[in-house]
Amino acid sequence: MLLKAQWVLPISKKPIEDGAVVVEGSKIKAVGKYKRLLGRFPDEEVVDFGKAIILPGFIDIHTHLEYSIFRGLLDDLSYADWKIQLTMKSAGLKKGDWELSAHIGALEALQSGITTIADITGSGASLKAAKDAGLRGVIYYEVADMDHTKVPQIIVDAEKTISRWNDMVSGTNLIIGLAPHSPYTVSPPLYKKASEWARQTKLKMCTHLAGSKAEYDFVKFGSGVLPNEYWDLMGWGDILWQPTGVSPVKYLEEWGVFDGGDVLAVHCVQVNEADIDILKKYDVSVAHCPRCNAKLGMGIAPLPSFAHRNLKVGLGTDSPASNNTMDIFDEMRIGVLLQRGVKGSFDFTAEDFVRMATLGGAEAINMESEVGSLDPGKQADIVVVDMSHSHQTPAREPYSALVYTANQENVVLTMVAGKTLYRDGVYATLDEQAILEKSEPIRKRLKLE
Ligand SMILES: [Zn+2]
Repeated sequence: MLLKAQWVLPISKKPIEDGAVVVEGSKIKAVGKYKRLLGRFPDEEVVDFGKAIILPGFIDIHTHLEYSIFRGLLDDLSYADWKIQLTMKSAGLKKGDWELSAHIGALEALQSGITTIADITGSGASLKAAKDAGLRGVIYYEVADMDHTKVPQIIVDAEKTISRWNDMVSGTNLIIGLAPHSPYTVSPPLYKKASEWARQTKLKMCTHLAGSKAEYDFVKFGSGVLPNEYWDLMGWGDILWQPTGVSPVKYLEEWGVFDGGDVLAVHCVQVNEADIDILKKYDVSVAHCPRCNAKLGMGIAPLPSFAHRNLKVGLGTDSPASNNTMDIFDEMRIGVLLQRGVKGSFDFTAEDFVRMATLGGAEAINMESEVGSLDPGKQADIVVVDMSHSHQTPAREPYSALVYTANQENVVLTMVAGKTLYRDGVYATLDEQAILEKSEPIRKRLKLE
């Protein structure tokens, strides 16, 4: 199949005007000027997208597909209050509800041109939805508990669950990782044990880190809402928590969490220069979630400092519970605007943010040899963004058009490993109507609780 459009953005190379991509099976066979490729591959079926951009599928390196049912239910709250409300509302969900919720997220991912996710799930619902949808990615099994005595049992359960999940992802484009949730929900021995085990078994690791000021105050000073109201809610009120006197990043370094490599740290807003040195020292990648961080009042991550250290940084939409869509275009746009409008930084261009949402994300989860750019031999994870609408006209520069004018409704094709999963509003693998209809009764119940 030969896909052609006004623009092809390989990301690894300069944009190609009147470009094309040849897909053979699950992989990219060739990328270049349409006329030249037509000469080389005269028998290929040509699909012409016209005034559109063909680019690698977006890589969303922080998602919780299973939280999608909470969209719009937890607005206008600070991070700690949001977390308390999310925890309380979550208690009202049954297994089937989580799965339905995750399927809503999978629908939106495909509609937004997201082909790879790095998702944290406690229930496994995200795994089921990502598998059903045909998405690629890393599904991290979440562990969280402040009770030190429970560590051995949690590890035993994690081993069993991950073994089962590994069987479930056999033959798919998904792999399983491990996610100790965050410094305020994971005890030091659980962090230590989990990261040792991940290191021994070569599991990818992910953790929320240095997100909110509430988390920072919790770790360093032992104060704030988290060790009080939130811990009481979780039944951890009797557990002693000693202030550590250090930043969240330093704290996790001291417990050996970064020792094994292949660690993805989510948020990294409350970090200073010494913290960023630590992240660099252990080659920790960062999931940058600018919209979620802004909406929950967490702050703005110091992207220029990440860039100066050459940290691996990708974009994450987090979850509709906080953000409220998985629109990766909004994430890029707001990400760059926050750097300009609040930080006064012109360090980042539209092109930088498109790279962050594609190849940068692939590098952050160490999958850049497979995905993230349009290069022969890589997986055919491809999206096409229509550029023919009035809000995009005239469009002369494709990076500018993607970041400053496009939105998820403009995605017309989402392909993973050569398979078309979404085309012109139609899903190949998911029953959109059934999923959306079933969501209403669950949502009504949650609203009442
Ligand atoms: Zn998260």
